[in-house]
Amino acid sequence: MKDAKELKEALSYRKKSVYEAAPKEITEAAYRYSEGYAAFLDAAKTEREAVAESIRLAKEKGFRPYTLGMELKAGEKYYYNNRDKSLYLFTVGSEPIERGIRICAAHIDSPRIDLKQCPLYEEGGMSFFKTHYYGGIRKYQWVATPLALHGVVVKKDGTRIDISVGEDDRDPVFYINDLLPHLGHEADKKPLGEAIQGEKLNVLVGSRPYDPEFDGDSIKLNTLYLLHEKYGITEEDFLSAELCVVPAFKARDIGFDRSLIGAYGHDDRVCAYPSLTALFDTEAPASTLMCVLADKEETGSEGNTGMKSAIFPDLIAEIARALGGDPAVVRANSKCLSADVSAAFDPNFSDAFEKRNTPLLSAGVVLTKYTGSRGKSSTNDASAEYIGWLRRVMAQSGVIWQAGELGKVDGGGGGTVAKFIAGHNIETVDLGVPVISMHAPFEVVSKVDVYEAYRAFVAFCNA
Ligand code: MN
Ligand code: MN
Repeated sequence: MKDAKELKEALSYRKKSVYEAAPKEITEAAYRYSEGYAAFLDAAKTEREAVAESIRLAKEKGFRPYTLGMELKAGEKYYYNNRDKSLYLFTVGSEPIERGIRICAAHIDSPRIDLKQCPLYEEGGMSFFKTHYYGGIRKYQWVATPLALHGVVVKKDGTRIDISVGEDDRDPVFYINDLLPHLGHEADKKPLGEAIQGEKLNVLVGSRPYDPEFDGDSIKLNTLYLLHEKYGITEEDFLSAELCVVPAFKARDIGFDRSLIGAYGHDDRVCAYPSLTALFDTEAPASTLMCVLADKEETGSEGNTGMKSAIFPDLIAEIARALGGDPAVVRANSKCLSADVSAAFDPNFSDAFEKRNTPLLSAGVVLTKYTGSRGKSSTNDASAEYIGWLRRVMAQSGVIWQAGELGKVDGGGGGTVAKFIAGHNIETVDLGVPVISMHAPFEVVSKVDVYEAYRAFVAFCNA
């Protein structure tokens, strides 16, 4: 009979933290890497800003604009800007294109609060914006906290005005009022999801009248006056505007050991940034590499900038054509990492998780075989063959990773862009960073997990 301890060591699988499994240099490198990530977070709070910032970084790395129909050369780097809201970057590999494309696909939109098309009004000595929330938010988290305004106003003559207020320390911020506890006895009895209704998410933007003698909504008038002074816009221009209210906080280290990063919009910039930098750092790849930064994931991947847009298969077809390949063969041989976050086990809410199959913070990048809800409804369930291949790729590079699924069976659910990509006959699996308080205005991730995501994407690009 063999020694039981040795046998257990040889036969069983145990999840290990990055601190335990990787050399100390990895942790040091993770801390350094997180500085670039934090800067990206602060520069890119909306999908439009993420596209602009990613293009800025890509240009520094020698990427140039691609237009449909363009000829391509091996070793060259390109980006396709889809309406300033989604971005497709690719590096042409040295091997034939029919070998397939290695794709990392993340999303760059995050849950937030959008302005309605007729937003401005005055009541009770204050002026406000009416809003319509975007994506899955817990509404009670957005009251009584500093907010910033980001977005664009497009005037009738086509002029676009970019707006960002609340990020500079000298800027004013905005606010959504909450009820004081003294008068909250009735509201406190309501379920959490009903305590703050969507129509109560009105953003406070002013309280000083333009002319105290004038009794025709003078506070609203003053807001309009100030907007006109600064941006040259009138109330009617809101009709063709996209203005988003996002938390005004910057990314910050969390903890005495500074091991965690708190920020707005980790979901899914925490996968977008590693996907992007993995592409930048893979020089002269054998396979053609693509990084997709998608819009509209939080609202169902619809529209011409979401992952369901035909631009994705169109781009693959154009790349295949330019390099003398059959698009169907290229797609059949392509492989994709759907780079999106997962929910980390939270001991404060342990009831929501099934401990044996939930990602743990700092235990590495999370491979999620299937997402969806109920009986694996609406999911891409990645094949064992593809996961087996990926295990080998990650093992060769010493990437620390863990398997995980989103909470308890029938506890809720969620999806990613994986199923839309897999639907084009491309091998796809979800791989991303575990997050604490996902979709909250301030989410938390572990630096070592962010870095393992980067290392996983680099390994994938080189495989
Ligand atoms: Mn996501
Ligand atoms: Mn999300």
